[in-house]
Amino acid sequence: MAEMMKAALLYAAGDLRVGEAPRPEITHPDDVLIRVRACGICPSDLRAYTGVRSGMREMPYTPGHEWAGEVVAVGEAVKSVQVGDRVVPSWRVVCGKCYYCTRGLYNYCENLQRRVRGGFAQYGVAAEESLLKIPDHVSYYEASFCEPLACCINGSLWSMIGFGDDVVIVGAGPIGLMHLQLAKIQGARVIVSEFLEERLAKAKELGADEVICAAKEDPVARVKELTQGRGANVVIVAVGAPKALQQALEMTAIGASVNYFAGTYPPTTIPLDPNVIHYKQIRLTGSHDYTPQHFRSALRFISLGMVRVMPLISHILPLEQVKEGFDIVAGQKGLKVMIDTE
Ligand SMILES: [Zn+2]
Ligand SMILES: [Zn+2]
Repeated sequence: MAEMMKAALLYAAGDLRVGEAPRPEITHPDDVLIRVRACGICPSDLRAYTGVRSGMREMPYTPGHEWAGEVVAVGEAVKSVQVGDRVVPSWRVVCGKCYYCTRGLYNYCENLQRRVRGGFAQYGVAAEESLLKIPDHVSYYEASFCEPLACCINGSLWSMIGFGDDVVIVGAGPIGLMHLQLAKIQGARVIVSEFLEERLAKAKELGADEVICAAKEDPVARVKELTQGRGANVVIVAVGAPKALQQALEMTAIGASVNYFAGTYPPTTIPLDPNVIHYKQIRLTGSHDYTPQHFRSALRFISLGMVRVMPLISHILPLEQVKEGFDIVAGQKGLKVMIDTE
């Protein structure tokens, strides 16, 4: 009989329970069995839980893709890691050979392997090539930010921030707060717009040059005021709110770029004046997921202290309280909720 472990299982929207599940096993020669130590709750994990987007996997399943842990067993072909190593897996194993990989768009690999299992469990399996070793001074909590930070690095680069630009980050959740720090690294003056005061305080703490409380003032007017009436050179929208997506276009300077970084749920459409794009020569883009290089950069930024992720954690909960954690994130009652699977 298979060995058992504690794991969270999502049975249906709203029905997330911790129980016994079979421990994953090494089935490929390059598989690595990992004792999960930490797993962050991502808004994308929430979509199947809140029901705004039907789960892409058959239920029940164990969600969680932002995790890190310790190697406990390796397949016969594994050479680069050994039992006892501290590792962080990237859930995206790309082929490097398909149409998109050869164009450098590894985030759209046509042969993507999803071999990393859900992290809200005591054990997970990952392919050897998906693993990075965690430096000793980096905690499991910090390492589990590699995935969301990698997505932000991809989005930040795609937004084409220039040295000295006025950059607006809309939304100061964990994603917006990472975008803020990445824009600062690139030499931008960063303005953060957000509804919640406590998130704005965090943005200040993490280096925002200006903050705008969108609950109290008009973010478009305030951005114009802060930029001699011109508007921002780059706007990164880290919330999937139709109004914020529209305002982003209104607060741009000529020649600006706007990145719709977040998915919008439930799906919707927004009115858009094409003349704004045309006459102001605006680049309107989106960005999604990350490449293996972004994942490596993420761990490096965390390791060097260039991006601070510990201040983004508002709650650390044991696996038994994972449902509470999901409810906290769904209700925007904190920032990053970390599940400690110790
Ligand atoms: Zn994520
Ligand atoms: Zn590929």
